[in-house]
Amino acid sequence: MVERYLKAGSLVEAMQFLNHYEGRARVVAGATDLWVGIKNHNTKAEAFVDITGVDELKTVEISKDYIRIGSGVTFHELEKNVQIQKNLRALQEAARWMGSPQIRRMATLGGNLVSAQPAADGMVAMSALDVAVEMVGPDGTKRRTLESCYKTFGESMIDSSREIVTAFVIPLHNQAHSYFGRFHLREANALPVINCAVGAWMKEDGSWESRYILAPLGYHPARLRAMEDALAGGLLEERELYDTIEKHIEELTFRTSLVRGSAEFRKQIAVQLMHEQIIRLWYNHEQEGESDAKH
Ligand SMILES: Cc1cc2nc3c(=O)[nH]c(=O)nc-3n(C[C@H](O)[C@H](O)[C@H](O)COP(=O)(O)OP(=O)(O)OC[C@H]3O[C@@H](n4cnc5c(N)ncnc54)[C@H](O)[C@@H]3O)c2cc1C
Repeated sequence: MVERYLKAGSLVEAMQFLNHYEGRARVVAGATDLWVGIKNHNTKAEAFVDITGVDELKTVEISKDYIRIGSGVTFHELEKNVQIQKNLRALQEAARWMGSPQIRRMATLGGNLVSAQPAADGMVAMSALDVAVEMVGPDGTKRRTLESCYKTFGESMIDSSREIVTAFVIPLHNQAHSYFGRFHLREANALPVINCAVGAWMKEDGSWESRYILAPLGYHPARLRAMEDALAGGLLEERELYDTIEKHIEELTFRTSLVRGSAEFRKQIAVQLMHEQIIRLWYNHEQEGESDAKH
């Protein structure tokens, strides 16, 4: 039974509220996931600590070396932010395809991580961006890799009764590009049948680093490391690229799902979607990350 709804005016105050309740309160941001949990009686807390009034969680800062996005930035704000559009294309495209206009105005990036859905659009895009997750808890502030924030399906390593995700920090690598693709069966509020993100940047020694991300596969966005190695040798001719992607995706285990379709269908979509995004990445195409195969 929730007894108190506490609206924090600063990060310090939010932490004071959480500390006071010693694990019996829960952070609330846009509440788009939390309300579903409350309706289904899955969310138990004595108090909610609303962080939507905490200004320091709502900024996008850019410096010479990195972009720091506050955990309270909404998907609507991500979609419209000029720096995100310019520097983090995958994230901007993910924000555009996520949910519906109403959901995008409320849903935050922090909640997208802590809800730990394997195909959460924001986190699929983030996985292609070499991001570090910043948080504050009883032991002070710390940084984690995105992958290490996932515990199991729908459960993150972040204890939102004691910890607050504060920001996502993305280095501004040399010649970095990233793109996002999504296949869904209707325009808004549709689960992705498959979503994917790709990213590449030049390292200091002049070689390239790439990320190829696909979801939903396991309990977090899946990084296709073997395919990264296979494609590290330089540009391939288009047919050869397609065959390499197909070979690697063929080896992955997809589940048949009532809402997302058969494993075989999703595998075919995954190959096509990944191929489209890698072509965009390699040739820096500017078209939007929506599959031509969308119904
Ligand atoms: C109709 C509908 C459509 C949707 N469509 C999509 C979609 O297309 N793609 C997609 O990715 N998601 C979708 N979602 C899921 C949801 O909107 C996102 O996951 C959203 O980003 C959650 O953010 P929030 O701010 O609403 O989180 P909340 O609901 O406020 O919180 C979710 C969880 O995160 C915790 N939390 C929130 N912020 C923090 C923080 N800063 N630090 C610590 N813990 C925190 C809360 O305690 C809670 O456990 C949809 C949801 C609905 C209801």
